[in-house]
Amino acid sequence: MARIRNFTPGPVEVSEKVLAAQYGSQGLHVGPEFSQAYVRATRNLQPVFGTDGYVAIVPGCGTLANEMAVRALLDEGQTALILDAGYFSNVLRKSVEGCGGIAVLLPVEPGRPADPDQLRSALGQQQIDLVCFTHVETSTGLLNPVEALAKVASEAGVPVLVDSVSGLGTAASHMDDWGVTIMTSGSQKGLGSVPGLGLVAVSDAAWPRIAQKKSPRGGFTDIRRWKEQLEAAPDWHPSLTTMPVGVVHALDVALLEMQTEGLETRYARHEDARAFLCDAMEGVGLELQIEEGSRSPGVTGVKTSGAFRSSDLVRYLIEYHQIRIAGGFGANKEEVFRVAHMGDNACRAALRPVIAGVKAFLD
Ligand SMILES: *Cc1c(COP(=O)(O)O)cnc(C)c1O
Repeated sequence: MARIRNFTPGPVEVSEKVLAAQYGSQGLHVGPEFSQAYVRATRNLQPVFGTDGYVAIVPGCGTLANEMAVRALLDEGQTALILDAGYFSNVLRKSVEGCGGIAVLLPVEPGRPADPDQLRSALGQQQIDLVCFTHVETSTGLLNPVEALAKVASEAGVPVLVDSVSGLGTAASHMDDWGVTIMTSGSQKGLGSVPGLGLVAVSDAAWPRIAQKKSPRGGFTDIRRWKEQLEAAPDWHPSLTTMPVGVVHALDVALLEMQTEGLETRYARHEDARAFLCDAMEGVGLELQIEEGSRSPGVTGVKTSGAFRSSDLVRYLIEYHQIRIAGGFGANKEEVFRVAHMGDNACRAALRPVIAGVKAFLD
């Protein structure tokens, strides 16, 4: 059977070098070879997040990274305001509630970005201890105005957690300049590597708040312990636990590739891929899920407008075009399909067969 190419919003297609790095090492999670890769990856993640602060690489996933961030910032009984732009706000809600916090969801108008004025008025109405939102809402393809939203929260003195699990590596992030307290990600989406790692970037401004926290932090999930371990043994045992060694090497290689390409070039390539796909979809009469100006450079949601079921398109593309895309989420499951253009798939050449496949299906 021909290999199916992934245009799903995670895990994404990864380069041959990244794949080779995953399986190329039988090494340990201790010693100089691993330590160099681990420490280099944490350093190379800093400009991608846009921080001079600490970045934790932990075994796991984006959900775990988010939960660690919540545990770092929110005490039991405190309230987190989650800007609800889709599926992943409900995932975050589980972490908030599971950590003993109270989650308040503020609905974001479908198809539009979260509104800073709406956030400002919500913050004026009740005591909020943490503001959470996605950089990119992967379930719809929305790119949120992180800077404007974070500014409103900062003015109100409330820390900000930004979930950039799929955004990071596809869209610029300047978390320090934007005033984001903690930003999270995972290895398998916009960064163009394989699954297996959660990433937690902590601004310097976050540490006093983390120190004040009173509720239990867990052992593994206590971000301070990861930082202390890195500082104590950077050359020998930089991580708190056994790591998926090959997965760290794969991320290291993906980040080195990113560095070689240059971040600005990479973001421009993703922007171009997004514009190319969106134009093509509108060209065949399909409507996009997100309004112009707020479409994510890494994933696009397209409406079926009742003309077909998205699961039929997904199945057709796998069977006849060896292409895997994704359907929608929740109530809109059949009314939306999503195409990821992340990593190596963020270029016109990679997207042409997807566009041709969608056209063939519509015919
Ligand atoms: C994928 C995703 C997650 C969950 O990440 P996992 O690695 O699957 O745990 C969380 N938030 C967003 C925005 C995502 O795209």
